[in-house]
Formats: sequence, C-alpha cells, structure tokens
Amino acid sequence: MSRRKDRERFLQLKQLNPEYKGFRGGEAGGVGADTPLETVTCSKCGRRRNVAVGIALEQGESYICLSCREEQGEIVPADEAPEP
Ligand SMILES: [Zn+2]
Repeated sequence: MSRRKDRERFLQLKQLNPEYKGFRGGEAGGVGADTPLETVTCSKCGRRRNVAVGIALEQGESYICLSCREEQGEIVPADEAPEP
C-alpha cells in the first residue's frame, strides 16, 4: 500500500531536479546532442576525450586531441606520430 507515497516521492524528486532531462549533451563541446560519442584516449597527452564515433573508429589509438594539435601548430599524420 505504499504506492501513493512512492509516487509523491518521485514527484518531489522531480521538482527538486527540474533540469534532470536537460543536461545531456552539455559537456560534448559543441557536438550535436544526437551525435553518438566514444571515449578515446589521446595518444599524446593521455587524456580521455569524448569524440564522435566516426572519428574514434577512424583514428583509434593514434587519436590526438585538438588541444595537442593546436600546441603543435599542425596536424601530424598518424604514422609519423612518435610512439609514447
Ligand atoms: Zn592530447
């Protein structure tokens, strides 16, 4: 017989969290909310980045994040990148 209480609790939580459904995609960095993302580790700085699945599949373990590319001032082809 606790169903009604559960429902009240649910509604309370929902009121406390009006943005609950809204924050998805906020951390993607300009990628559309519908773009599927994959976590890839940058082969240069070792940080994990969320990139579009297509890029993850294409570059895989040789992925270099945008920050590193900007530091280099150019985009180094994957087969010329130094091994860590
Ligand atoms: Zn990097």
